[in-house]
Amino acid sequence: MLLLKNADVYTPAAIGRADILMAGGRIVMVGPDIEVPARLCERVDASGLVAAPGFIDGHVHLAGGGGEGGFATRTPELALSDAVRGGITTVVGCLGTDGATRSPAGLLAKARALDEEGLSTFVLTGHYAVPVQTLTGSIERDLLLIDKVVGVGEVAISDHRSTQPTFEQFVRVAAEARRGGMLSGKAGVVNVHVGDGPRGLSMLRRAVEETEIPATQFWPTHINRNPALFDEGQAWAKAGGFVDFTTSTVPAFLDAGEVRCGAGLRRMLEAGVDASRVTFTSDGQGSLPDYDAAGELRGLRVGRVTSLAASVRDAVLVEGVPLATALLAVTANPARILKLRGKGALGAGADADLVLLDPAGLEIDGVIAKGRWLMKGREIVVRGTFE
Ligand code: ZN
Repeated sequence: MLLLKNADVYTPAAIGRADILMAGGRIVMVGPDIEVPARLCERVDASGLVAAPGFIDGHVHLAGGGGEGGFATRTPELALSDAVRGGITTVVGCLGTDGATRSPAGLLAKARALDEEGLSTFVLTGHYAVPVQTLTGSIERDLLLIDKVVGVGEVAISDHRSTQPTFEQFVRVAAEARRGGMLSGKAGVVNVHVGDGPRGLSMLRRAVEETEIPATQFWPTHINRNPALFDEGQAWAKAGGFVDFTTSTVPAFLDAGEVRCGAGLRRMLEAGVDASRVTFTSDGQGSLPDYDAAGELRGLRVGRVTSLAASVRDAVLVEGVPLATALLAVTANPARILKLRGKGALGAGADADLVLLDPAGLEIDGVIAKGRWLMKGREIVVRGTFE
């Protein structure tokens, strides 16, 4: 058992000072003045620290991605300590552009490895391409038969790298995901990679207008990648859809019009978008171009999952979004959209996944995943197998 005393608790709603008792990988009780005999539990004074649900990163190239500049540009797999450094206790893995040398089976194996190392992990089946490459022959069977599969993605549209799916092919994916999700009790959500192309979200709007599939079956990502798509995303979110912002970026992208996640969240809230509609994901382990001051391509970098926490900090400390609201984008919202039971909440019955933050700078001070310390007092205490 583990007892945290006197933390400033966000469930993610702010509930003030409380103790948190954990046992068997679950949160048993949250409230004032919890006492347990010392011989039965580890007791840690968390006064002066914020306690929040462990962060959920819903779009990470766990098994590596990239490769768009040739074989040497394939990115490496995610290391456990990167996730821990970013306060992430749950990751959802996906494949990207490359579905030939990267496979759903390899992704699933990597997700299982990170699970053994201490995180909670899930995967999306498929990659950029339509028809979707699956593990068992169909999206429906993957959702029904493989516990870790919670949806499909990232399916690419409005992008020169997509397989240019027709409308019929695209809605077929959503229909199969919807049915598989219903039958398995999972989200069956379709994570849609939206490129810079002028077609933007038109395929999604058409799906909602011309079929019975609801807007909430789709979870479009990279919505902050350019101003036009951001505006389209805002309208989509106001109409009840979900929008996902990508937190890993480079200065050149921001200079070219990409909307910083913190500012994007503030702007959407000001425009009347419900806070429950917006998520942040890192796109971690994807490849990013690295330009020098003169704008010359110097090489490639890897998107970091730590950008997720940095964007929460940015939203609160720079943009003035309340912490409880900013936390929604990396806790309760992805948990609800992906139907991750026991995740994204800090309360009795939830999984014992917590992040401790210093209240001034929101730097990560501690990480508990499945009831086990992965970072304590700013020191990483559990590393990946080969770290
Ligand atoms: Zn993408």
